Amino acid sequence: MPQLFCQSCKKSGTKLKRCGSCSKVWYCDSVCQKNNWPIHLVDCNLGRPITTADRLVAFAYQDKFPIDPGVLRDYEFDAALTIDAQTKLLNMYMGLILGLGVKAKALHQARLSGKLIEFVKSSFGAAAPLPEGHEEYYPWFLKHSYLLSPSLVHNEPSIYKEQSYVDSWRFIGGSHDDDYVQISKQLETWPDTRFTEAEEDELALSYKALVHAVSFDELHGAFAAGNMPALFAAHGMPLKSRFLLGLFGPGAPLQYKPVWDLKEFAWGQPNRAKPKSHMRYGFNNCRNEGEVDALKAVYKRIFSHPNADPLAWYDAYEKGKLFEYMNNATKLRPKERFERLLKDVNRCVGPLQSAELN
Ligand SMILES: [Zn+2]
Ligand SMILES: [Zn+2]
Ligand SMILES: [Zn+2]
Repeated sequence: MPQLFCQSCKKSGTKLKRCGSCSKVWYCDSVCQKNNWPIHLVDCNLGRPITTADRLVAFAYQDKFPIDPGVLRDYEFDAALTIDAQTKLLNMYMGLILGLGVKAKALHQARLSGKLIEFVKSSFGAAAPLPEGHEEYYPWFLKHSYLLSPSLVHNEPSIYKEQSYVDSWRFIGGSHDDDYVQISKQLETWPDTRFTEAEEDELALSYKALVHAVSFDELHGAFAAGNMPALFAAHGMPLKSRFLLGLFGPGAPLQYKPVWDLKEFAWGQPNRAKPKSHMRYGFNNCRNEGEVDALKAVYKRIFSHPNADPLAWYDAYEKGKLFEYMNNATKLRPKERFERLLKDVNRCVGPLQSAELN
C-alpha cells in the first residue's frame, strides 16, 4: 500500500481519515479537510454540477492561473489582451476570493445575472482597508472593468470604450503617448461595421495572430496603402471572405463605405444616426415604415447569409440591377412591391435628395 498523506497539509501518517463523499483523498482531521474543501470540491462527489466559479475559486486557492477554458471565457480572461492584464485580473479575483472570502456561489450568481462588475465593486467598496497584498488590483480594475462586460465597449458609458481603445492601441504597438482623441482620429478610417459572424470570426482570429507577427508600423503602413490582404497572406492567413478582401484592398476603405453603412442600417444598430447614403438603396421609394422594415429585413437576410457577397451586391447596385440580384439571392415577395422599391436604384440617379442631406 502506498504511503498515505493528508491532502491539505501533505503530512503522511497512519491515522488519516478518508473523505466521506468520494473516498479518494485523506485528511489528518476535519480542520485539514475544511481548509482543503474549496480545492477538493471540484474533484469530489458534490451531487451538483461544478460551476466555472467553483473552478475559479479552486485555482485561486492553489495560486494557479485558471487554465480551464470555461473559466477563461466566463470570467473574461479571454477579453484581457495581454498576460499582464490577465495577471492583474486574476489578482483582483484572488483579492476577492482569498482576501474578502467571497464564495463561488455568490460569484456565480453575480455573473449569471450580468452584475459581475457591480458585484466586484460593492465587495471591494465595503472593504476597508483593501485586502493585504491585493491593494493595487482593485484600482486597476476600476479603470479596466470594461473587461468584464465586453458589450459595454460597444454601448455606453464611453469611459469603458475610451479605456478599451487606449489598451488595444498600446497592445498593437501604438505609442503610449497617444490619448483617446488622437487614437480615435486615426481609427476613423478603419472598418467599423456589422460583420456577419463568419466575417467577424475570420477577422478577429486573423488580427489576433497578425498583431503578434508584425510591427505596428508594418500594420499601419499596409492599411494605409491598401495592402492588408497581402500582409495577411504573407503571414499565412489569407483572408477568404470577398467582403474582407474588398474592405482592405486597394482603394479601401472608402470604396465600399456604402455597403458597410447599409449593413449597419439593416441591422438596426440603436443610437446610430442613419447613414446619409442609405436613402438611395430603395428606402427613398418606401411609402411607409412598414415598407422600410420589409426592405431592411431583406437586406439583413442577404448580408447575413453564410455565402453573402456584399461586393457582388455592390456591383449590381452600380449597374442598376439591384432587383435582379436581390431576387436571385432571396425570394422577394410580393414581387411587385420590391420591383417598385428597387427600381432605378443606383448611385448615378443624380443629386442627393434633400432627405439624405439631413
Ligand atoms: Zn493535514
Ligand atoms: Zn471527496
Ligand atoms: Zn491598461
